[in-house]
Amino acid sequence: MKKNFSIFLIQIITTIINCYEGYLNYTDESSWGNTICITGKSQSPININSDLNLLIDDRNEIAKIESFDYYPINNQKIQFVHGYKYMIDTSKNGFFNMKIKDKFYTFNLHDIHFHLNSEHKINSKSYDIEVHLVHINSDNNYFSNNKYLVIAFLYKIDYGVVDNNSFIEQLPFNNIEQEINNLEFKSLFSKLDKQTLYFYKGGLTTPYCDESVNWLIIGEIQKISYSKFLDIKNLIGKNYPLGNNREIKPLNNRKIYIISSKYTPRISSFKLILIIIIICMIVLFVIYKMCPESLKFFESFI
Ligand SMILES: [Zn+2]
Repeated sequence: MKKNFSIFLIQIITTIINCYEGYLNYTDESSWGNTICITGKSQSPININSDLNLLIDDRNEIAKIESFDYYPINNQKIQFVHGYKYMIDTSKNGFFNMKIKDKFYTFNLHDIHFHLNSEHKINSKSYDIEVHLVHINSDNNYFSNNKYLVIAFLYKIDYGVVDNNSFIEQLPFNNIEQEINNLEFKSLFSKLDKQTLYFYKGGLTTPYCDESVNWLIIGEIQKISYSKFLDIKNLIGKNYPLGNNREIKPLNNRKIYIISSKYTPRISSFKLILIIIIICMIVLFVIYKMCPESLKFFESFI
């Protein structure tokens, strides 16, 4: 009996490992090897439907962005991992601080990855690309139901002039051997304080489908050039001709909130000192221009 159970266990583990090393079958999630992917009641992605009377969290009782800071990506390549994820390892590139309910959390950026066809829909509309910035709670508590923060950006093809300096346009999808250097996050977050931000509790959209994700969906649809879209399509489409986007999951009794996008930009102490020095120099210059005699006052100290 014991021996049979061990064989059964080994078979299950082997199935799971094989599943992760192979490609994900997006039309048969029962092959993903995790029952929660099928039976979970808080799965992702979802359709964000404005007819559902989205709740407005204007008093920051549900979630509030406190601060965040990202450092440029250097010496990184786009990697293809687990047979389903095209990602950039960004585990040392920054953090996002949030207050969720009445607790303060620091989420460290872990990876950035890409989905051909958006996973989330807004008012039942799907978009061309979805980018996920996956963050992991700094407390490393495996049992926490706030283990992840995933920030999602939805992209639509723009056939007009697209900003070549935007985050996605600078990524080398047509040559994943090319190293990414000096890639800043500024363009992703420059207008964050003026946007609609959707927040809900859900799960990872790939195995293990862990239901401990705080989802932050950026409401403003981003632009991607047709040529960059084709680069992504050629890359991901090689293994996933229909895309690597999971089907929409039922909301069940979950709520979707529009959270306040006001936050305190973090200024590093180095930048702060630099700003103070520049202000002092400007003040001294103005004093000198208005009253050259004042220089004599300083000379008396020399
Ligand atoms: Zn994803």
